[in-house]
Amino acid sequence: MATVEQSEGGSVVSELIEFLNASPTAFHAVDEARKRLEAAGYERISEKDDWKLEAGKKYFFTRNYSTIIAFAIGKKYVGGNGFHIVGAHTDSPCLKLKPVSKVSKGGYLEVGVQTYGGGLWHTWFDRDLTIAGRVILRETKDGSVSYSHRLVRIKDPIMRIPTLAIHLDRGVNDGFKVNTHNHLVPVLATSIKAELNKKVSENTGAVEGGVVGKKYDVNTDCEKQNHHPLLLQLLATEIGCQPHEICDFELQACDTQPSVVAGAMNEFIFSGRLDNLCMTFCSLKALIEATSSASSLQDEIGVRMVALFDHEEIGSNSAQGAGSPAMLDALSRITNAFSPDSQVLRKAIQKSFLVSADMAHALHPNYMDKHEENHQPKMHGGLVSKHNANQRYATNAVTSFIFKEIATRHNLPIQDFVIRNDMPCGSTIGPILASGVGIRTVDVGAPQLSMHSIREMCAVDDVKHSYEHFKAYFEEFQELDRIRVDC
Ligand SMILES: [Zn+2]
Repeated sequence: MATVEQSEGGSVVSELIEFLNASPTAFHAVDEARKRLEAAGYERISEKDDWKLEAGKKYFFTRNYSTIIAFAIGKKYVGGNGFHIVGAHTDSPCLKLKPVSKVSKGGYLEVGVQTYGGGLWHTWFDRDLTIAGRVILRETKDGSVSYSHRLVRIKDPIMRIPTLAIHLDRGVNDGFKVNTHNHLVPVLATSIKAELNKKVSENTGAVEGGVVGKKYDVNTDCEKQNHHPLLLQLLATEIGCQPHEICDFELQACDTQPSVVAGAMNEFIFSGRLDNLCMTFCSLKALIEATSSASSLQDEIGVRMVALFDHEEIGSNSAQGAGSPAMLDALSRITNAFSPDSQVLRKAIQKSFLVSADMAHALHPNYMDKHEENHQPKMHGGLVSKHNANQRYATNAVTSFIFKEIATRHNLPIQDFVIRNDMPCGSTIGPILASGVGIRTVDVGAPQLSMHSIREMCAVDDVKHSYEHFKAYFEEFQELDRIRVDC
């Protein structure tokens, strides 16, 4: 049996696995993207500064550290030329810690969480969970106070949401109903062991786990009463700070089980967050590889861009979501850096093209009737072009044709999807950006199963197909767009 490394496209797959394992949250995914872009010669810029951009150079910026937009400007670019964009999203459904997460019940310490997005919440039971996200630290050195923003991830499984034994719920297999308020509360510890830990800390003046320093006082430090001291100790140990220096955070529960290549033929990826870190990674790698050599931007007249947004799972309406002005701001600032004429942006948008990349539903062998019989995306069948007459997807005949033409030229498979008429259709960033920016858009995605489960699956060949398709799009769109389908 061929290993993934031996098979064609293996490196894309193993790099995706590394990316997934390093990205438990949107913040981590953006940080991983940043590292790869910097290593590839992309210069970090800030939306707070003036932009002095040069043709032939590569840049990126982040917003809220959960959205990232990277772009490479063609050597022959002039203001008013088009943007060739792949858009995806960095977030996935999960459980986010409440502002007051301290819950104590029945002799247990629990962690209060909010549901984020439309998760398959029953899959979060009986998993080995941990915590990751970002914290704001207040540090005092030589009398002066400074604040910092740090990413954190506790590696060990520190929590679990236990199911109820079947003996106490005999009807559970007829339909497992989750009350997300009552039942979806991770257990952190028993109070008896946590009490013991607190006493050790008080006696030694140190926090168990290696953080030495100011003793944490649960009675007087009112900020910290929002969270179990044990949880703050674990975070402080991981960060290498003292618990009282943690002044705020955005943390979430996440699975500790690593992403793997699996299946009897090593043809699948089993992982959390494939929706949509799979498309995030494939588009990012495609941009990096399509702009890596000295000659790659030599004849390019447009701008190649990847835009990875937070908050898709909750409708994209936030300061950094696809519903924000982030994309339009980027297009207008790049255009204006090369042309003082503000009208030029309008022409640029009409010459531009967006591939909205978000995972698609593969046909499920045990639920065949959930797919329309002529539109049953298959694993290994390549990217899925998503259509919806009611514009839940922004694809039209022109955008679909252009994207399919790339597949034809490169001998890549591609398939179509529409939802059954008697089922509601999902949506994504495509229609939001198409309507907000006025840009030609095609909605596509690699096929997967178990979407929004804590553990999803997709096929390794589709990772390779997606990456190659996006890369060819970046490299050839300029030439392909000359076959103008005027409308
Ligand atoms: Zn998605």
